[in-house]
Parts: sequence; structure tokens; C-alpha cells
Amino acid sequence: MAHRLSTCTFCGVGCGIYLETAGNRITGAYPSMSHPTNAGRICVRGWHVHEVASAPDRLLQPLIKRQGRFEQASWPEALDFIAEKLRQIRHQHGPDALAFLCSPRCSNEESYLLQKLARAVLGTNNVDHGTGVYTHNSIHVLRDMLGVPATTSSVADLARSQVIVVDHVDLARQLPTIGGAVLRAKLAGATLIVIDTRRHRVAESADLFLQLKPGTDVALYGAMAKVIVDRGLMNLPFIKAHCRDFEPFLAAVQEYDLMAAAAECGVPAEQIEAAALAYARARAAAWLYSTGIESRSAEGIRQIVNLALLTGNVGRQGAGLFALTEHNNLQGVCDMGMLPDFLPGYRPVTDRAARAQLEMLWGARLPEQPGRNARAVLADCAAGRLRGLWLCRYDPVSTAVFADAAQALQQVDLVVVQHLFMTGTARYAHVVLPCTAFGEEQVTFTSTERRIQLARQVIEPPPGPWPAWLQLTRMASALGVDWGYSSSAEVMEEIGRAVPFYSGASHENLDRDYGRQWPCTTDKPLGTRYLFEDGLPERGFKFVPVARPAPASQPADYPLSLIFGHSLYYWHHNVLIQHSETLKREYRILLLDYPNGFVEINAQDAARLGIRDGERIRLQAASGDAVTYARVTPEARMGTVFVPYFVREVEQQILGATGNGTHPVPVRVLRYTT
Ligand code: SF4
Repeated sequence: MAHRLSTCTFCGVGCGIYLETAGNRITGAYPSMSHPTNAGRICVRGWHVHEVASAPDRLLQPLIKRQGRFEQASWPEALDFIAEKLRQIRHQHGPDALAFLCSPRCSNEESYLLQKLARAVLGTNNVDHGTGVYTHNSIHVLRDMLGVPATTSSVADLARSQVIVVDHVDLARQLPTIGGAVLRAKLAGATLIVIDTRRHRVAESADLFLQLKPGTDVALYGAMAKVIVDRGLMNLPFIKAHCRDFEPFLAAVQEYDLMAAAAECGVPAEQIEAAALAYARARAAAWLYSTGIESRSAEGIRQIVNLALLTGNVGRQGAGLFALTEHNNLQGVCDMGMLPDFLPGYRPVTDRAARAQLEMLWGARLPEQPGRNARAVLADCAAGRLRGLWLCRYDPVSTAVFADAAQALQQVDLVVVQHLFMTGTARYAHVVLPCTAFGEEQVTFTSTERRIQLARQVIEPPPGPWPAWLQLTRMASALGVDWGYSSSAEVMEEIGRAVPFYSGASHENLDRDYGRQWPCTTDKPLGTRYLFEDGLPERGFKFVPVARPAPASQPADYPLSLIFGHSLYYWHHNVLIQHSETLKREYRILLLDYPNGFVEINAQDAARLGIRDGERIRLQAASGDAVTYARVTPEARMGTVFVPYFVREVEQQILGATGNGTHPVPVRVLRYTT
């Protein structure tokens, strides 16, 4: 048996694992003891991450749909078929009738080449990733205020944080290894503050649990800033040396009021004050928030960054902001430019100098106008405005984010899907290109702490599937452009020229250690443990004033707030989960008790309404009704009804097919009667 170091490709933590092989099979995955992020620990998903490669229903041949039925095709036949259709669409409707979407699980190499194919070969900026609509706010705010759209700190440095704020992210379910690091830091003496509407597992261990009403986070952050300002706890030397626009921020903070925020958020004023004082007085404080499926408003993220700047919690070990990425390469696909408004390295598509630099590198003229995001692309498909859609490992039909994707795909002349399996989306494709699996190819992923890591090839793929990066390279050839890459390492060499902060991240360099955290440059090839460790920029950070929002009023006839969010059981849609018997069992466990889905309702609310656990209920909102089942739990805050994202029917029935549950919806709950 052989063991080779690799990277768990399930979530954004990017734990180091050893893959065990026997012959040409991966037989196990084991945690790396020395990996700086997970230090010998992995979660249940990591133990089974390799099983996908041996699934019996892998796609092994390209498929072309003819007269409604898929037929096997050779690679040249499939690529020529696609090339012909792409040329036709571009000729008849222009390049912006095409769009290219990827999964946040795509490797750096394939995301880079997908956006290069779109921009340099076909001439459109219609590129995005599946969770683009959620990460957009975080990318824009961090880039605007700090200059860098990423986590500033490292998971290992949580051990040096005196205060840790876990803000609207269920770490135990979403990013378990980070959840463990937070709890160990607390056991070692750190103060743990949790801000959330749900009482999740990490909240149970918090020193301060601010269980606020949904949609009131901006008021809470503003009140914390007011406390810090009123008590004179601002880090004035840091602000003076490194920040600008402090005065307008200070003026906006005066609008906030602790007692008013307490009433609005439903959190005792003493708790808000205690959280503010602990955060401001800490030697080093870390703030963790999710950029994932639980979308954050731009105002909320601005206030979080304002608080970090106000207290100087940036650019010090153990201090910082964690913009947590839930999918394994969400950070990487954004770094690679799979965004409609940013080129690789977050340079705007409207930046003439940035375009000129890439035009030199790629030998092609680039489009100047920002493209359409994933949600707009699917809306354009539904409206018949988009004629060709390329989906790299992305399965919008099966994920909860786009309720109307299946209907939208049926309006498109050409749908190309790259995937391992015949997914819900692939069924609507005109061409399906089978991909190699984890362990069958060498590619890189970038974790939530900016760690660029190799996922190594440890076995040979079965005959038939190609790595997605190779498919894209051959696609460019079929369209008459020779990119000339003979390995994924060569693609990474070019990424180093296109993305300045990856310039030192060759496969060879990444192979020497447990990856490298960017910026990883030719001048600093060992990477960067925390951002600004070599010096803080002179007045390089920016405060942004956030006006106090008007308090929301709850309509008397809809007294509860419906909120949509993450659940452990969300993952049962995932391809990996569906191809591992162990994970299927683990992640469907609640569905065994609630086979028709459920929404969560607080135990006291349920008692008041006379609703029993498991009982059928009716949710009524101004926009629609839904019938579902109640799961009575103390995790839900009083006054809220929590809908796990995978229960798509409730979201669709309440919000309509195109709605998305990013804001609380006033509802009433009734016992179901026929
Ligand atoms: S925490 Fe994430 S990266 Fe680590 S083993 Fe679990 S799924 Fe894999």
C-alpha cells in the first residue's frame, strides 16, 4: 500500500490528508498530523472524500444528445460538435449570447482556463461561479476597504486570538475543522462570542451568545462601534497611520444607540456592550463570517470591517477577518477571475491597463464591459436571450440556489456540461464531457485561508474521462487557438504570470510543503501567513460609513420571521455524499425522521401555537403559502421559522420560482387542516 499527501476537496478548510492506494484503487484517506490547518484532524467527509472515484456510475465517454437521446461519441467528435455550435451562436447572436459558469469546486487550473476560453477565445465576460451571487458582496467590500478580497489571517493563528467572534456561520456543520480550532482556542482561554439567530453547536460553548432577531445585524454592529467610540477604545495610532475616511465613519456611528439596538435586535444591551468591550480590549481578535450560502449584506460586511479597523485588528498575528468560503475552491475560482466583473487577480474588466497586460499574455483582444452573473445568466436562459451555456462541474438543477434552472436550460440551443456523473443538470445538456475524479489528476485548490495546495494524482483514471483543464485546452484548439499546455503544471505557470499574488505558486513550490498561502510570489515563495505581515499600508485601509437602518416592523398578522439557511442535511444533494454509503447515511439521518422535509420552529413558539414535533403545518406569507412539517427545536430563535436550503419547495412556494431567501420573510404558522 502507498500513501501520498493530498488535500481534502470537500470544504473550504482544505485539510491535509494522505490517500492510501492499493493497485489502482484509492482505499482510504487519513489526516496529516503535520498539516498546519488541520494538525491530524479531519471530519467525516474527509475520511470518505476519495470514494467518489470508485463510484460505479461514473461517466466514461463523451455524450451527444441526438433526437432527445444521448449517444456515445469520441472526444474529437464531441469537441468539433461543440466548436461548430459555439461558432454559429457567436456569429448569429454575438459573443454575449454565450455564458460560462463553474462550480466553486473547480480547480484553479480549470477555472482559469474556463474564463480564458470565454474571454480570450469567444469574447465574453459572461463568466461566474455557482455561488457568485452570495460572495459578490464580500469580494467587493473587502477589496474596497482593505484592498484584498480574502481572509486576512490563518486557521492556525486562532490559537493566538484572545477573542474570537463567530458571526452567522454554523462552523460545526459547515467547516468542522475550523469549528474545532475555535473550541480549542476557547478551552485555552480565548473569549468566544457568537452572533447568530440560531443556537448551533458552537453557540452552546460561547461566553457571549448574541442571539439576535433576523436582519438586525447592521444595528448590532453599529451599536458595538458606538460603545467602542464612547469608551475611547479606538486604536487611534493604527487609524491615523493606516486608515482614511475615519471622520465620516465617526459621524455615522453617532446615529447608533445601544438601547435602541438592544430593543431592535432582541439582545440585552449588557451583552452587546460586553461583546464590544471584549473585542476592543483584546490583544488580538478574530472575526469569522461566512461568504457562503447564508448571504451577507454589503452593509453588514462593511460594519464588520469597520469594527476591525476601529480596533486595529488587521495585520497582526491572531487578529483578522475570516471571510469563510464553504466550498473547497470558492477562494480559488474568484482568484482565477471566474467573476463577470473581474479579471484574474481581481482587476476590473473595465481597467484598460489590466486588460492590456492580459491581452499580451493571451494574444487576444478582451471584452471591455462586465458580464452577467450566474443568476442573471440563468434568467437570460429562461427568457431566451442566451443561446449557449457551458457548465464546468456546476449542477444548478440539483442545488438549492436556482429553483428554475431546469426550465431555463431547456430554452438554450447549446448546453455543455463537464462532470463525473449524469447530474440533474447534465440531463438537460446537449453535450456531456466526462471528467477525471479527485486522485486521478494533479490540480490545485485555494482554501479559505488563502492556502494554495496540490491535490495530487495517485491513481490512473479509467479509460475515457479527461481532466477538465485538458478538455478546455482541446476545446480552444478545436476553435483554432493553440494554448500549448501539456500539463496542469504548465497552466499554473501561466496563472503565475496572470495573477501577481500567485507568481511563486508553481506546482514544484507547492509540492515542497503543505501548499503556500498567497501572496506567494517569486520574491516571497514561502507565502504569507497573515496579510500585511510585512508592513501595513500607509493610509491604505478605508472606513466606509454605514447609515443606521430604519428598524423593521413585523406585521401583526405575520408575527414570525421565516429565515433560510444552512443545515447539515443540505449536503445530501452533494455528488460526493451521494456516492458514499457512509456519508449518505450520515447526512440523511434527519430525513429518516422527516422524510418529507421540515422547517424548524422554536419549542416555545410551537407550544404556544399547539404544534407538535413532526406535525404537518401551513406557512402563510403575503407572497405565498407552503405546507410542510414542523421540527420543534431549541436551535431556532423564538419568533423565527428556519427553512434549511434543501427544502426547496418551501422557498419556491413562499417566494416564487425566482425568489431567493436572503432576507427574512414575515409569516404566520398554522396547524394544517384539510
Ligand atoms: S473540514 Fe472540510 S476540508 Fe477538512 S476534512 Fe472536513 S470536509 Fe475535508
